[in-house]
Amino acid sequence: MDPVTVFVVATLMMLANGWVLGLVRKDFPASLRPCAETWRIATLLLAGGSVTYAFRDQLPLGLASPLANGLVLLGCTGYWRALRQFYGLPDLWWMLAPALVGISGILWFAVLNPDTRMRVFVLSTCCAFLLGASFVLLITQKSPEGLHSRRVMAGLFALVAVFTVFRAGFILVRGISPSFDITGHGAWINMASPMIAALLPVVGTTAFLLMCSERIGRQWEQAASTDYLTGLPNRRTLTTAGEQWFAHWHHQKRGFALAVIDIDHFKSINDRHGHEVGDVALRHVAQHLQSACRGKDLAARHGGEEFVMLWDGMDAATALAAGERLRALVAQEPLRRAGEPIAMTISMGVAVATEGDNSFNDLLRRADEALYAAKAAGRNRVQVAQA
Ligand code: GH3
Ligand code: MG
Ligand code: MG
Repeated sequence: MDPVTVFVVATLMMLANGWVLGLVRKDFPASLRPCAETWRIATLLLAGGSVTYAFRDQLPLGLASPLANGLVLLGCTGYWRALRQFYGLPDLWWMLAPALVGISGILWFAVLNPDTRMRVFVLSTCCAFLLGASFVLLITQKSPEGLHSRRVMAGLFALVAVFTVFRAGFILVRGISPSFDITGHGAWINMASPMIAALLPVVGTTAFLLMCSERIGRQWEQAASTDYLTGLPNRRTLTTAGEQWFAHWHHQKRGFALAVIDIDHFKSINDRHGHEVGDVALRHVAQHLQSACRGKDLAARHGGEEFVMLWDGMDAATALAAGERLRALVAQEPLRRAGEPIAMTISMGVAVATEGDNSFNDLLRRADEALYAAKAAGRNRVQVAQA
């Protein structure tokens, strides 16, 4: 195989990857489509650069070099932009500067003052900067989401950046001509270059698709486990967590208490202020519950204007005290609309896991009965369930 064949094969693989990404992108959620489109365009730009390299001997130097290298620099800029879009970061006004500086320098050293070594230097410096920017962006992402695909991607950018710097040093120090010659001493670098250059458009596109599919999977998981109005875990998550906690309690016999919380006369808040204010009131109470969580505690929306708290390691006395604190917090810090307080109170049924409970549902049922008792006793109160 010779470098021309490698460039042609690499171009075909890049085009195939760009085509696949173009197809699957249409099924992506709207939030991921812009970055997928940018990645696809960048891949096509690199394919253009690769095919121009393959046929550069058939083109005048003043055209081939700036065109091929310019497409590569724009492609690298595109990858950097696609990753920024993926992480919801805005474009920077100077993002095109490295590519423009590189293209100007290459034009200068190809047309006005032909100098191969300077062209290699300019291209490698600008490329390394752009690849490095993507690498830094990837490794500075703090969230654990998509960790593995991010690592693969960061590794690819690091590999290509390091090779770019190494290749420039190798060519400049050893005085090798960056051509299609693969017979001379050290000329293997001319064979390795198109292979390494194809890594990002080919393997990188797969890693990018993996990043997108991980994000989509997590968004589905999040939507299925969270209540969209309050952002609290929903009933499905509560049931799963509650059953796990109950099984754990059964083995360890570490305290486990639960509270069913219902907003008092919530219907009248809706009736008086409108359903939208009712929604804000639900979020207001949800925030109070969330702020009262300690350690493993869990606050969830059970449905309607009813919430459930799972308290880790609590016995009846501490659960009653925690419930009282929460009840007082909601009563003392009303929702404010246009400066006017909208008073709200909650009633609560608390149950502590005992030997008589056979399941999480038993515990929930007892807390529910205690809640009814709290309502019957006049509301704005905490009632502990009988064992
Ligand atoms: P009680 O003190 O006995 O609990 O009285 P209540 O008015 O709070 O109870 P009721 O069950 O009569 O009314 C609950 C109301 O909660 C009725 C329903 O329209 C309202 N609601 C349920 N889900 C939502 C929601 O997501 N948003 C809004 N704004 N209201 C909701
Ligand atoms: Mg109610
Ligand atoms: Mg209710």
